[in-house]
Amino acid sequence: MEKICVAVRVRPPICHENSSSTFWRVDDNQISLHKLHGSPISGVSYTFDHVFDENCSNSDIYELLTKDIIHAAVDGFNGTAFAYGQTSSGKTFTMNGSSNDPGIIHRAVNDIFQKINMISDREFLIRVSYMEIYNEEINDLFAVENQKLQIHENLERGIFVAGLREEIVNNAEQVMKLLESGEVNRHFGETNMNAQSSRSHTIFRVVIESKGKDTGSFGDYSSSDAIRVSVLNLVDLAGSERIAKTGTGGVRLKEGKYINKSLMVLGNVINKLSDSAKRRAHIPYRDSKLTRILQPALGGNAKTSIICTVAPEEIHIEETKGTLLFASRAKRVTNCAQVNEVLTDAALLKRQKLEIEELRWKLQGSHAEVLEQEILKLRNDMLKYELEREKLEMELEKERRSHKERDQYIRDQLMMIENLSSLVSDGDGSSSQGSMKESPIEECHNRGDDFKTPCFKTAPKAFVAKRSNYSQLPDFSSLPDSFSDVADEDTWFKINKGYIADLDSLQTTPARKVQSFPPEDVTPNYLNKKYKKELQNLKRRLELVTEEKNELQRKLAEDIEVKDKLKGDISKLKQEALLAREMPQRLCDSVTSFKDTYEEVLSKMQVKMHYVSLIQLFISNLYQNINLLVAILSKQRYTFDGKSSTAKLLRCISEIGSILFSTMETSISNTTDRHKLSSGNDSLIQEYNKMLSEKLKSTITSLILSETASSEDKQTKTSCSCYFEVVASSRYHVSILVLFFVMILGYFVPFFRTLIF
Ligand code: ADP
Ligand code: MG
Repeated sequence: MEKICVAVRVRPPICHENSSSTFWRVDDNQISLHKLHGSPISGVSYTFDHVFDENCSNSDIYELLTKDIIHAAVDGFNGTAFAYGQTSSGKTFTMNGSSNDPGIIHRAVNDIFQKINMISDREFLIRVSYMEIYNEEINDLFAVENQKLQIHENLERGIFVAGLREEIVNNAEQVMKLLESGEVNRHFGETNMNAQSSRSHTIFRVVIESKGKDTGSFGDYSSSDAIRVSVLNLVDLAGSERIAKTGTGGVRLKEGKYINKSLMVLGNVINKLSDSAKRRAHIPYRDSKLTRILQPALGGNAKTSIICTVAPEEIHIEETKGTLLFASRAKRVTNCAQVNEVLTDAALLKRQKLEIEELRWKLQGSHAEVLEQEILKLRNDMLKYELEREKLEMELEKERRSHKERDQYIRDQLMMIENLSSLVSDGDGSSSQGSMKESPIEECHNRGDDFKTPCFKTAPKAFVAKRSNYSQLPDFSSLPDSFSDVADEDTWFKINKGYIADLDSLQTTPARKVQSFPPEDVTPNYLNKKYKKELQNLKRRLELVTEEKNELQRKLAEDIEVKDKLKGDISKLKQEALLAREMPQRLCDSVTSFKDTYEEVLSKMQVKMHYVSLIQLFISNLYQNINLLVAILSKQRYTFDGKSSTAKLLRCISEIGSILFSTMETSISNTTDRHKLSSGNDSLIQEYNKMLSEKLKSTITSLILSETASSEDKQTKTSCSCYFEVVASSRYHVSILVLFFVMILGYFVPFFRTLIF
């Protein structure tokens, strides 16, 4: 149990009065009223936790009064700080501050984010909402369309305002922007006391959810991973001015009444709470929306501080005394604050845990701000869907209830018709009897006993029987909602299940009966006619009601259609959200696959670069050797001695070929060693190499043999011109060359194919 922390702040005087005879003096944590010359006025001295004089700043107030509450809220305690006082005493200045001296709200928001950034072992989810209570109606300051919101209470969420927009935020700047936009929607009015007096109570609410980071890995839940949920209310109350003083009228007067009413209830609640626990009776939290919302902060599970602002001017002396009285009562109120740990799905953090973890996991290692924004947007979307669903559920419930009522009404009407029909048929029967018997009414009348007790037995028997039957029906008519002394016709109808009592038939006093109706009219025929007429009337009404019912049913069908459509839209939106949520994963996948492909391409490129250099080497070798060959050929042409020149030449080519292939082999083996090419490709190339080398060698050997043989033959022959021998020999050379190049080409084609594929 701890007491509410109460402080008083005296604002600087706005105008200096010349004729004042008293002044408020502040000493440490005491405020007292003194006469102008210094002597204190007895009985007007109060002590509080803190008393701030006119020189104090918002920063002092925050440090001494609110900071602890804000820090406790981050640790899981509910917290409330509110400013109470008359108009123009400085409540809004304390809560909102100025550009030079930011108020409590601004400082609290900054502090919350600073603190949670310092806590590394817990993760936080912060939601904010901003509402005003204007003329006892709750309006959403973040969404102007959300008006006249209702307060609900359940075990999971405690007391909450249904349909109030909450925004998930992750930095102080974001909150400030939201507050600015909300401030525009606030109700202000001009009174004599303050040019821009706030005419509503505003509640800025921060919900802080947090969870230890070490409980389980991603996607692994256990029932023990409790989530701390704390609610922080920062309240700027409207002024408790006296109507005469503010000079209000019309709309302002109405506002003033509501403001005074809710502040009066707040005072009552504080009064009751400040009584000793034994004498505490019923606490009237439900008498105003303000006290209902602040219920946990007043004598409940919250750490609370109240800053009571007072004006020092002598004209405000009564209001100041009132405020100080309120403050001293509030000082006696005790609260019982404890850390709120939630194990159910009520904690948004728990519901969103999977998604947050998933997204955070995706964000690991990359500082993609775009993705962070995306996460925030998705979280807010989810919150909106939930609120939308809540609203739709409420509407549906309302619709169901009204439908039930309509059905009940129609059933009642049908029963009335049924009753009347049976009455009429009974009436017909009695009329036939009436011709033989004297009418019971007449019977009574004819006795001439004008002062006897009412003759109740004259009521139709059928009616009595029917009534007893009705009493057995399960849906026996309920009492009408509003039942005053005088029942109107409809109410009477409802009570009697359609039976319209003919008061005269009860014959309360014969004298009255005689006076009201001539005796000849009171016959069964007359009654019959009357009933028939009533039956007709009722039938007409039934038709109307049936029409109305049909119309309502049609409307209901339309409503259901609209609702189905809305549900469809919501599921579509959910799907879109799901898709959007998958986006970061897809992006990550694409980036990873792109990276893999890139690496693969890079490695291939490197290998290919080696091949290219290899080919270059090969070509340069080839070029050199061709040059050598051409030089040898040209030399042979001029130093031709007609004897085994071709053999020499071919030997030369054979040597060149073997040099060429050995170079190739060395280069390829170097490349494969360095880059670890796949063994399949190596062996293929090596095989080609060997095969070609052998082929070339065998061809060249066979050519050498044939050439040697032909030269030996030529020597045995008689004469032959040198010129023709040179030409023949040159043809051989050319053919060998062509053969050589074809083989080289034959090597190149598969070699290139291996490179490319
Ligand atoms: P309330 O919200 O109680 O009606 P305001 O906060 O609007 O009153 O204050 C009325 C005026 O007094 C404003 O112009 C405000 O700037 C000024 N004021 C109030 N308190 C202080 C203070 N402590 N220091 C300086 N100016 C103040
Ligand atoms: Mg104000």
